[in-house]
Amino acid sequence: MFFTHFSQEDLRPSYFEMFAQERLLPTLKPALRFVLQVFAQRHPRLLPVALKSDEIFTFLHFLLELNSLRKNQASCAEAFYGLRRGHTFSAREASSAVEQGPLSRNEIVSSLVCLVFIPYVKQKLDNLYEEASGSALADMFFQGQNVQQHSMWKTVFVKVYPIFHALYELWFFLQQLLFLFGKTRYYSPLLRLQGILVRRLTAEELRAMPNNTTTSSSKFISLVDRIIHLLKIAAIGGVFAFKFLEWLVAAENKLPRNASYIPPPPVPLRPSSKGISLPTDKSLCPLCHQVRRNPAVCVSSGYVFCYQCIFTFVERESQCPVTKMPSTIHDIQRLFHEQSM
Ligand SMILES: [Zn+2]
Repeated sequence: MFFTHFSQEDLRPSYFEMFAQERLLPTLKPALRFVLQVFAQRHPRLLPVALKSDEIFTFLHFLLELNSLRKNQASCAEAFYGLRRGHTFSAREASSAVEQGPLSRNEIVSSLVCLVFIPYVKQKLDNLYEEASGSALADMFFQGQNVQQHSMWKTVFVKVYPIFHALYELWFFLQQLLFLFGKTRYYSPLLRLQGILVRRLTAEELRAMPNNTTTSSSKFISLVDRIIHLLKIAAIGGVFAFKFLEWLVAAENKLPRNASYIPPPPVPLRPSSKGISLPTDKSLCPLCHQVRRNPAVCVSSGYVFCYQCIFTFVERESQCPVTKMPSTIHDIQRLFHEQSM
């Protein structure tokens, strides 16, 4: 029930195959964000691009899924695990002409909505909630300090969203639990809504696979196919290279060091030409030009401001005011030293 049962007749995938394919692509998102941030640090002109990492990922994801749904009748991750979208788990029925044919236009559109659009909207709502709940917390601290009142919708959203989020996750969890125990044929509620089954490829389909790549009629389409294929390999290779580098850095940090050696401090990030200018008196806050109150550092750039000044700025602009580095309210850290205690 839980594990793969390689039956010629039953094409139902195991829970673990479905779980693994579901987790494949989301792991690339933080990798893309990290790469864009590193580029933005080196070339400040790329900052607007780094700020749009979610949208860039969604666009690339859309192209990959569209290509895969049209070519493999499966999402990228499903195709990677030898699965495809269909309407039956029976191998006999799967060999019929309708089952072997491509997905209908409506099925491709609904699959794209469920694979790309819904996760993007959910991510944006999660981000919105983090921002809104963060500013609600700040309001508690700054009460009576002339803080602008947040609108009514924000308060309602902060209260209602966790309930919606919990119900949404519960819906997925229950569906997966039913799938795990063989009580439903659909792994996710979104597949259930679409009425689409994800099944293993039949033996004939597996045998026919290598020929698929040569069927493209136009040279342009075959070139695009080849580029997308290379991108897919590069993405998977990139994940392994990233993990290897992560391991290498961790291993290097564990090496015993000469106790007297102290590494030099990192070079400070240069202020951006579009950022605010720094006051000559270093004890002043670059935003309000007063002596800093409750000093706080913007961790992504290292510059120090009043907590309230930097919080309000980052919440509004999502970047450091001096360097223009992409930042969130989670990058703000209060500094506790003698003068400010
Ligand atoms: Zn200030």
